[in-house]
Amino acid sequence: MGNSRLRRVSDLINQDSGTWNEPLIRRIFYPHDADMIAQLKLPVNQHDDVLAWFPDKLGMFTVKSAYMLALDLSMGEGNGSSSSSPDGNRKIWDVIWRCNVPPKVRVFAWKLTTSSLAVQANRCKRIKNTKPTCEICGMGDETGYHAVMACPKARDLRQPQGIWRPPAPNLQKLNMDASFSEHSKEAWWGGVLRTCNGEIVASAWGQIVNCSYPNEAETAAYLLGIETLCMQPGVNLHLESNCQQLVNNLNSNSVDRSSSCFLLQEIRRALVSCNGFLISWEENGIR
Ligand SMILES: [Zn+2]
Repeated sequence: MGNSRLRRVSDLINQDSGTWNEPLIRRIFYPHDADMIAQLKLPVNQHDDVLAWFPDKLGMFTVKSAYMLALDLSMGEGNGSSSSSPDGNRKIWDVIWRCNVPPKVRVFAWKLTTSSLAVQANRCKRIKNTKPTCEICGMGDETGYHAVMACPKARDLRQPQGIWRPPAPNLQKLNMDASFSEHSKEAWWGGVLRTCNGEIVASAWGQIVNCSYPNEAETAAYLLGIETLCMQPGVNLHLESNCQQLVNNLNSNSVDRSSSCFLLQEIRRALVSCNGFLISWEENGIR
């Protein structure tokens, strides 16, 4: 209880009514801690105090829960998870808890700063056969930083919506995107073909069957998009993807033996019917 003179939990309880002294609690503790304390049910009748082990749901000490706690601490987690922590997290906590945003946003920010978001990198430490890889992009471990900042799909969400660069006047632009779940291996594609005025010529989406990797999903999405949306022969196409590797692969003449090499060959074959084509990378992806 920091510098306050309170020494016992019973000092925080209105002895007459057997309820928490909330104004006092809110004066002493940070809002998140105060909320947690206020949520604790007080017994209606008098009971003797008992020692409880907080990492365990039932308050019972187990070696397993102690091991998990030690693991968290050794990985730098758990530090700063209490407002009584003497480290330098207090300032950021002040910023978070005083922010004028809905409570769930504050809680999210708190979890992010304490590395306690339910991201794959955390889940795989506790759940067997779980991979730390981001299930959305598959391009790295899904840490809190990745989920919010580094993941290309998260970056897309932060971009101002509605920005789409039209193709040159003699071209039609095909924007494609794919999603892939590492867990279920389910993959989906979506695409839209537009003129230089932004008029939609055609759009479609669907499932990609037999897909094993995120890059394979991006490549298969392009093949399906070209086959489904660009059947009109003689059109000059501008293909745009937010998958840099796919664009590099399609623009490269070097030998490719990746799992996607046959799909790339099929894309090149499908593009033969076009008058001409241009393939570019656009970080923002589909719009
Ligand atoms: Zn990601």
